[in-house]
Amino acid sequence: MSDEIKELKKKLLSGRKNGYDRLNPAELGMMEEYCRDYMAFLDRSKTERMCAREAIRLAQAAGYQPYSRGMEVRPGDKFYVCNRGKSVLLAHVGRQPLSEGAQIVAAHIDSPRLDLKPNPLYEESEMAFFKTHYYGGIRKYQWVTIPLELHGVVAKTDGSVVEVNIGSDPGDPRLVITDLLPHLGQEQNKKPLGEAVPGESLNLLVGSRPIGDEEDSGRVKLGVMQLLYEKYGITEDDFTSAELEAVPASNACEIGLDRSMLGGYGHDDRVCAYAALRALLDLNQTPERTAVCVLADKEEIGSDGVTGMQSAAFDTFMEDLCQAQNVPVRACFEQSFCLSADVTAAYDPDYADVYEKRNAAFINYGVGLCKYTGARGKSGASDADAETVAYIRALFDEAGIVWQIAELGKVDAGGGGTVAVYMANRNITTLDAGVPVLSMHAPFEVVGKLDCYETYRGMQMVLQ
Ligand code: MN
Ligand code: MN
Repeated sequence: MSDEIKELKKKLLSGRKNGYDRLNPAELGMMEEYCRDYMAFLDRSKTERMCAREAIRLAQAAGYQPYSRGMEVRPGDKFYVCNRGKSVLLAHVGRQPLSEGAQIVAAHIDSPRLDLKPNPLYEESEMAFFKTHYYGGIRKYQWVTIPLELHGVVAKTDGSVVEVNIGSDPGDPRLVITDLLPHLGQEQNKKPLGEAVPGESLNLLVGSRPIGDEEDSGRVKLGVMQLLYEKYGITEDDFTSAELEAVPASNACEIGLDRSMLGGYGHDDRVCAYAALRALLDLNQTPERTAVCVLADKEEIGSDGVTGMQSAAFDTFMEDLCQAQNVPVRACFEQSFCLSADVTAAYDPDYADVYEKRNAAFINYGVGLCKYTGARGKSGASDADAETVAYIRALFDEAGIVWQIAELGKVDAGGGGTVAVYMANRNITTLDAGVPVLSMHAPFEVVGKLDCYETYRGMQMVLQ
């Protein structure tokens, strides 16, 4: 190639590189350190409640205080509000007044899982089971024959709330959903993948040992209920007012002989939630504009509900902060920027035909910028404007952040959404960005360490 062509190529064509060809050894060291912290966070954050609690613990350690309406809001103040134990809003008040807008990063801390039904416990053929109703978009066949843990709360009529944790402590028993043996799977094998495991067969096996005498009935179920009563003081009716979530019983680990990736449950979207939170907590000076981190619940089922991104809880938090500075919240919103931090699909060569390779996100190519999500012609997407994408491109380029573009699969191959649209609907300029994930929504998802770290660095640039 002539020098002239080489020059021209460099000048005119996109020269995107694998992040490992861009980071120096010191940066790679910091990446490893960051990923170790993230793995520990993920292991303590198996449900949205556990994740909210862990986020608050870290925030408090970084000097954040609970905010209550009427408190003064001065530059440098660090506040958080926990919404019903399941969502957390944090702010580091900037040097400029809120009329200049806030820099927001919004991620979600709920992940696909199996929730217990309000009347879950039954006995069949002298085995006891919990009935479940899946939460979020799961591929049901992935959730059978893997060890599961159960976490959540039971709210009793006396006002007390009992916390349930089964399966995560050493020596704890675990739960499982059974599947058909191949020897008898002939008919099931003929079914489409999405129908082979019906939702009503996602029943957790929880016991098989009868109590009492031979002539008694329902002895296995009663035995399970007795154990639950002894440990948690709950009765069958208490399940009605419970939130118990079955999640994979595995901790985060390194993946690959080169340890370049992380496997675990709930990367979507705790990998971005952690990046957003850490970026906020690591700010080493008062930011120019108020830095806000949102850890939302209910994204996986549409962001509805009182702890979801569509809830007024976020507006209330922002309005309270604004009011303390005599700023109308709408004036703050119209000047604000939000990075909707959510994972995107990583290109998987085994399933190449659902991706459009020129616009797909790749492992180790950094944080994925997603101008639009949606399905069937961008429906349901906020579709960020060109100026917004340019703003982030420039910000990331200046800081040397490894980033890439990310479109979630081929046109009409499917689609998805994030909280971006709900932020944009509030008149907040919003762009999606996040970590590319392999096997997204599976009980065990995979991300690249480099992408996790670059996403964190990207969040830092947005918030500083
Ligand atoms: Mn997500
Ligand atoms: Mn998701």
